[in-house]
Amino acid sequence: SLKKVEQIVREEMDKAGAQELLMSALLPAEAYQASGRWEVFGPSMFKLKDRNDRDFCLGPTHEELFTQTVIDNVRSYKEYPMTLYQIQTKYRDEGRPRFGLIRGREFIMKDAYSFDLDEKGLDESYKKMYDAYNRIFTRLGLDFTIVDADSGAMGGSGSQEFMVKSPVGEDGIAYCDECGYAANYEKCECIPQPVEQPEGEAALEKIETPNAHTIEELVNSLGMEAYNFAKTIIYKADDKYIAAMVRGDRDVNEVKLKNLVGCTDDLELAEPAVVRDITHAQVGFAGPIGLDIPVYADKEVAMMKNFIVGANETDMHYKNVNIGRDFNPDTIADIRVVVTGDKCPKCGGTIKSEQGIEVGHIFKLGTKYSDALGLKYLDESGKQKTVIMGCYGIGVTRCLAAAVEQLHDDNGIIWPVSIAPYHAIVVPANYKSEEQMAEAERIYAALNDAGIETLLDDRSERAGVKFKDADLIGIPVRIVVGKKIGDGIVEYKERTMEKAEEIAADDAVEKVISFIEANM
Ligand code: ATP
Ligand code: MG
Repeated sequence: SLKKVEQIVREEMDKAGAQELLMSALLPAEAYQASGRWEVFGPSMFKLKDRNDRDFCLGPTHEELFTQTVIDNVRSYKEYPMTLYQIQTKYRDEGRPRFGLIRGREFIMKDAYSFDLDEKGLDESYKKMYDAYNRIFTRLGLDFTIVDADSGAMGGSGSQEFMVKSPVGEDGIAYCDECGYAANYEKCECIPQPVEQPEGEAALEKIETPNAHTIEELVNSLGMEAYNFAKTIIYKADDKYIAAMVRGDRDVNEVKLKNLVGCTDDLELAEPAVVRDITHAQVGFAGPIGLDIPVYADKEVAMMKNFIVGANETDMHYKNVNIGRDFNPDTIADIRVVVTGDKCPKCGGTIKSEQGIEVGHIFKLGTKYSDALGLKYLDESGKQKTVIMGCYGIGVTRCLAAAVEQLHDDNGIIWPVSIAPYHAIVVPANYKSEEQMAEAERIYAALNDAGIETLLDDRSERAGVKFKDADLIGIPVRIVVGKKIGDGIVEYKERTMEKAEEIAADDAVEKVISFIEANM
C-alpha cells in the first residue's frame, strides 16, 4: 500500500512536469544555519555531530538543500521554471508523536520545490501542484477538503492545506456550506459578533472577587454572562512579554497573535511567577489597566462597554471598564479562535466546523530561501534578480493512516482498490479438500496472470478465521471455493457487500477483473 501511494504521487508529480531526485537524510548544518532554521526548528530538529565534531541534522524538510542544489547546478535563466521533488524519509522530534503513522518522528514525505523567475511563474507552478494534488488525493480514494492555511510563520504569500475529514484529525476546519469557503481554524478570519451592550458609560468600580480565578467562577459568583468579561492573558513572545485580551466566551488564537507580534518562537503562556511579577497579583487577576506591557485586544473587546477585567490585584476585578476612558490597547486586531456559528468571512453565512488530518500542504514561499542562500539569476538584460520559490508537501505515510481512518468498518480496513495491498483474495474453505485447493489454485493463478494482484489463503485455518482476516486487512474482493465447487459454484464478495453471491466458478476470474478495472 505504501509503495502504491508513492507511485500515485510519483506519477502525478511527473505528469505535472516535476523532476524527481533523492537527497540524503543526514545533512550538514551550514544551509540550515544560513536560513536561520538551525535555531528556528529548536527542539524539533534531530541534531548530531560527526567524529570531527561538525554539526549535522536529520532533515525535517529540505527547502535549504533544494535551494542549494539549484544554486550549484543552474546557470541560466533559460533553465527556469523548474520543479524538483523527492519521496524521502523525514525526521522531526515532534512534541507529541501519536496515532502511529499520523504523527511520527520518522515519516515519509513527498516534498517538491518550484523555482520561478517571477510571481506569475510562481502562480502557474503553484496551480500545477494544486491540480496534481487534487488528482493524487482523488486517486487515493480520500474524501478531502482544501482549506486556506496560515502562512505567517514561513513568511510566504499564500498557502493551502489538503485535509482528510476524520474525527481523529488534529486540525480544525472551519467551513461554510453556503459559499464553499474553508479555512484552517488557525487561519480563519473572525467577523466580530456584537452582543447587547449597556447604554452610556458607568463609573469605574473596583469589586472584590475572592477566589474567582476563572471566567466560570466569575460568572457564577457575579451572576453575569461570560461575554460581559474580557480575559487578559500574558504570553512570552521570544524574550518579551505581551498581554492578549479576548471576550470572556472566546479563546486567543495563538497563531494569529504570533503573526501579529512577529515573534520567531511559538507563543508560550507566561510562567506563574512572571505573571505575579508583571501584575503584582496571583494568577487569574490580570487586567489591562495600569499594565506596562503591550496589550493586544481582539476586535470584539473593542466593541464592549462597561465590562469587567482583572484589577492586577489579588481577589479584585474592575467593573464598568471602557476603552478610551480607562485604558487604551496598543493594538486592536482579530486575535480570537473562530467558533461554530460565527459569520463566514466570505459570504456572511454560518461557519461550521469539523476535524481533519492534514495530508498535503502547498505553499508560496516567495524569496525567503533564495534571499537567505543567494539564489539569483541574470535576466535577459543582464540584471540580477532573485528566484521565487514554492514548496509542496505530502505526508505519504500519513496518507495511509488517513485512508484507514476514513475507510473502515467494524470488521477492519476497506482499502480503495488503488492502494489496497492486494486486489483480490482466494480462500479455499476447507484446506483439506484437494478439489477445493486445486480450484482455488487455478483461480489464483488465472487472476495473477491477468495482472490482478491476488493472495491465496492456503493456511491451515478454519474458513471463519480466514474470512475475518481478509476483511481485517481490507482486500477489496474475495472468492471462496467451498463445498459447492462440485457443482461448479464459488462465492464472490466485494469488501463492501453485506453478503456473498454465488457465481459460476468459470465466471469468477472475469468478474473480479471487471470489478478491479472499474474501481482502479
Ligand atoms: P502538522 O501541522 O501536522 O505538524 P506540518 O505543517 O508540520 O504538519 P509540513 O511541514 O507542511 O507539515 O509537511 C508536509 C506534510 O508532511 C504535511 O502536510 C503532513 O501530511 C506530513 N507530516 C508532517 N509532519 C508529520 C509527522 N510528524 N508524521 C507524519 N507526517 C507528517
Ligand atoms: Mg508539524
